[in-house]
Amino acid sequence: MVIFKSRQPPIDLPTELTDWDWLFDSSYSPLCQYPESELAGFQNAITKERVSWRDVRDCSTFISTALVKKYGLKTGESVSLFSQNTVWYPVAMFAGLRVGAKISGASPAYNVEEMTFALKTADAKFLMTTPGSMEVAAASAVAAGLPKENVFLLEGQVPGYTTIQELIHVGKSYGESGQTPAFKLPPGQKNKDVCGFLSFSSGTTGLPKAVMISHQNVIAQCLQIQQITPVTQKKIMAVLPLFHITGLVHQMHLPILLNAEVIMLPQFTMKKMLDIIVEYKLGELLMVPPILIRLVRDPIVDKYDLSHVTRFSSGAAPLSEEIIQLLQKKFPGTGFKQGYGMTESCSCITAHPPEKFDYKYAHSGGAIVASTEVKILKPDGADGGIGESGEVLARGPQVVMGYLNDEKATKETFDEDGWLHTGDQGAIDEEGMIHIQDRIKELIKVKGIGVAPAELEDLLLGHNKVEDVAVMGIKDDYSGELPKAFVVLKRGVAADGAVGKELIAFVKEKKVRYKWIKEVEFIDEIPKSASGKILRRVLRDKQLGAERGT
Ligand code: AMP
Repeated sequence: MVIFKSRQPPIDLPTELTDWDWLFDSSYSPLCQYPESELAGFQNAITKERVSWRDVRDCSTFISTALVKKYGLKTGESVSLFSQNTVWYPVAMFAGLRVGAKISGASPAYNVEEMTFALKTADAKFLMTTPGSMEVAAASAVAAGLPKENVFLLEGQVPGYTTIQELIHVGKSYGESGQTPAFKLPPGQKNKDVCGFLSFSSGTTGLPKAVMISHQNVIAQCLQIQQITPVTQKKIMAVLPLFHITGLVHQMHLPILLNAEVIMLPQFTMKKMLDIIVEYKLGELLMVPPILIRLVRDPIVDKYDLSHVTRFSSGAAPLSEEIIQLLQKKFPGTGFKQGYGMTESCSCITAHPPEKFDYKYAHSGGAIVASTEVKILKPDGADGGIGESGEVLARGPQVVMGYLNDEKATKETFDEDGWLHTGDQGAIDEEGMIHIQDRIKELIKVKGIGVAPAELEDLLLGHNKVEDVAVMGIKDDYSGELPKAFVVLKRGVAADGAVGKELIAFVKEKKVRYKWIKEVEFIDEIPKSASGKILRRVLRDKQLGAERGT
């Protein structure tokens, strides 16, 4: 058996601490290590509203007490966060975690149907949102059977709904001795046995599933990344959505461990992002490929002096060689690093260590993070050696618990020996760096966010002109990939542009923007295996042939 091991020293992983105790009430906590005046926090880059780690600890204590004592939240129940980036998002997250709830994030752009699915799949009992998302939140809460009093506002006001500030007030009214104690691990259990988060991912196949992420997964990943993060990293820009695993780990947990100030941008625009990079003189920029593409292509960037930027950090999707070169040319003297992983590995399996923060290594997804092993499974079933391609398998304390209520998918993705089957094709080089070459799984990545072809196929199959359909990702200069539908029309329906437009509009009406299909191609038959599985390879080859004009 060929197993690639991390070259980093192993992490010293606490197994008895919950996530909340670890960050707010243990020797790891910045609250135990820094004087009050030096504590960093979460800061809204636009309004300047700020909560220090001390505020996060106190407010999450009051909120969790109010939720338990007044609203009946129980250990193990799910709380759904449906919101754009706000400093109150992590406060609410830590409040739920503090009393043993599971936190489930959802894209603030979801429509009622998508949000209802998210609430039901995560079996959410509470929902926290913002005024801008309240209409969808309220309707999906009704559809998922949540009472109105269990829907709260993270910020702002909407008549008839309780705000997080009111929850703080209620919690405080119980006095110091009346606070609900922080959740402790049940006897005989370790932090790897307790689920703290439910994040959505379609994994290698099928519809989005709720990924069960343990307290230990997040702690392990933070310690793995801390080990390769320079101590000078004291400001972290949070432009990526908090509901994604990157946001959960790198924008909400890791900064606390590092005592690094988080500069949050509630809504992304290129101008706002550039303004805050300059205003806060940010050094390292955590980004995803579509933003890096704009950094090298958008003329607005030339209006800014970004000479203080020291390093770009990319992840969540592949970054092309062309963009890497343009980045290096446009920002000479900067460094580069990348992380590769997935929701099911609680973010990174590999990441660049400091000695490799260089464009020379930019085409690689980084080195195996501490206490982690990688195996390359070749198509013939044998293990791949150095430089050999195959499916990337990973094992380590950050590999998650499985999918909620989906034993079949869990067994297919996480094998008996603890290996996570990533559905990505890659190879490890002599220096121990990974190279992600292709995606074997169905997943489409639009601007770094996963889209499940099965979800769009299910939707389109419900259209009265569609007999059969297969959806796959096609290359897009800006978004990385966009969904394309191969459609077999019902008998008698003419395959013309009007039907194509109708189907595109149909998806637009039903799904959040990043799932919209870019184009429709009519074909006579969807290629399928004897067991009825769509042969996506065949469609992909057909697409590649069309792109090459062959
Ligand atoms: P998600 O669960 O949304 O984080 O998606 C995980 C998937 O994104 C991985 O399985 C890869 O297909 C892709 N991905 C993540 N990071 C990278 C990277 N650095 N390079 C290439 N693909 C990546």
